[in-house]
Amino acid sequence: MQVKTILNRLQKQPGFVYGAVRLVEEAGRLHLEVDLRPRANRQPRCAGCQRPGPGYDTLALRRFEFVPLWGLAVFFLYARRRVQCRRCGVRVEAIPWAAGKHQLTTTYAWFLAAWAKRLSWTAVAEVFHTTWDHVFRSVAMAVRWGLAHRNLTGITAIGIDEFARRRGHRYVTLVYQLDLCCRRLLWIGPDRKAGTLLGFFRWLGPRRTAALRFVCSDMWKPYLRVVAKKAGHALHVLDRFHIMVHMNKAIDKVRAQEARALQAQGRAPVLTRTRWLLLKRPDHLTDAECPRLSDLLSYNLRAVRSYLLREQFQFFWTYTSATWAGKFLDRWCTQALRSRIDPMRQVARMLRRHRPLLLNYFRAKRALSTAAVEGFNNKARVTTRTAYGFRTYRVMEIALYHTLGALARAENSPQILLRRHIKVDDITRICTDPCKKAG
Ligand SMILES: [Zn+2]
Repeated sequence: MQVKTILNRLQKQPGFVYGAVRLVEEAGRLHLEVDLRPRANRQPRCAGCQRPGPGYDTLALRRFEFVPLWGLAVFFLYARRRVQCRRCGVRVEAIPWAAGKHQLTTTYAWFLAAWAKRLSWTAVAEVFHTTWDHVFRSVAMAVRWGLAHRNLTGITAIGIDEFARRRGHRYVTLVYQLDLCCRRLLWIGPDRKAGTLLGFFRWLGPRRTAALRFVCSDMWKPYLRVVAKKAGHALHVLDRFHIMVHMNKAIDKVRAQEARALQAQGRAPVLTRTRWLLLKRPDHLTDAECPRLSDLLSYNLRAVRSYLLREQFQFFWTYTSATWAGKFLDRWCTQALRSRIDPMRQVARMLRRHRPLLLNYFRAKRALSTAAVEGFNNKARVTTRTAYGFRTYRVMEIALYHTLGALARAENSPQILLRRHIKVDDITRICTDPCKKAG
C-alpha cells in the first residue's frame, strides 16, 4: 500500500488531489513530502466567504506540517492560489487541511493537542520534533473549538475553588461543574474578589443560574456573599477539601512556631523535617514514615495535639445524619477551643460561624461529587506548576481548559477520523454480507 493510498482513504481533501510522495533528506534528517494540487477545472474558493471565484494568481510554494509517519516529519506541499472574489476582492483561497496562516495542518494540530493532555507541552514539542509555540497554538485551537461547541445544559451543581497562581498571592478563581454525570472545569477568572465570581454568574446567565441546586465553596467571604446574593435558592455546601486545607494550615503554623521555640530553648529538635508527616493523611504515609510518625506522636507537643484534633475531625465527614454530625461538630469545637492552641481555636471559631453551611454537606452528600474538588484542585496546580513553560494568564487559562474542561474534539481530529473510518468499513462489510443481512 502506498502512502498516497492511505492518505486518500483517511484524509481526503475535497477539491484537491494528492500528487507525488517523496522521501527527502535535509540537514541529515529524513522527511516525507506530499504534493497537493487542485482538481482540474475546479475554481478556488475564497477564504473569506467560501464562495468559488476565478483565480487571480498563485503564491509561492508552501509547506504544511502533517502527522509524522514512522517518526518522519510529513509535509504537504502546495502553492496557494488567490481568488478574485466578487464580495471580498482579491483573497487567498481556502484549503481544507489548514486554517488561516497556519503552518500546521488542522489534523496535526489536533494530534499535538491530544498529546498535550498527557505530556507537558515541552515534552510534546521534543517528542514530535516541533516547537513549543506550535504545541501552544494547537492546544489553543483545540480549546477554542471545544469552548465554542460546549453543551451547557443540565448544570445543577457547581464548585468554586481558588488557588494562588504564583507566590505573592496572585489568585485565580475556578468554577467546576460537579454533577455526578458530568464533572469538568466550566469557567476561569482572574483574582478571587466578589467581582470575579459576579463575572461567572454573568457568564452563566439568569436561566442557568436558576437551575442550580448545589453550590460548593470555601469559607472565603466574598464568595459566600456573592453565592448568597446570586444563587440563594441553591443549597450552599462547604466542602471537605477546603475545610481540611484550613486545618492543615493551622497545624503547619503550630508546628513551625513550636519548632522555633524548641530550638530557642535548646531542646531536642524533634519537629524538624516533620512537616509532611503531620500534614499527610495517615493512610498516605510511606512505610518509612509510619514509625517516624508514631515516634513523634509519643511527645506531648502542641503540634501533635493539633494533629490528633484534625484526625479526630475526619470522623465528622463519615456521618449520614446532619443532626448527629452537628452534635459531633459542637463537641469537637468545644474541645478545640479548650486546647489553648491558637491556630486550632481559630479554626474552631470559623467552623462554628459556618455551622449551617457545614451541615449542608450532609444534605447534598449523595447528589454531587464534592470529592472531585480536591482532584481538580491538584490537577490545576500540577498543570500550572510543572514545566508547561508559560508565564501569562492567557496561556495558563488555555492549559487549564485543555486539561480540566472535558472539551469535545472536532470531527477532523485524527482519532475521530480513524474511528469513523473503521465504522464505515464495518457498515459496508455488514451490508455486503448477505448472511449477516438475513440474520
Ligand atoms: Zn469572498
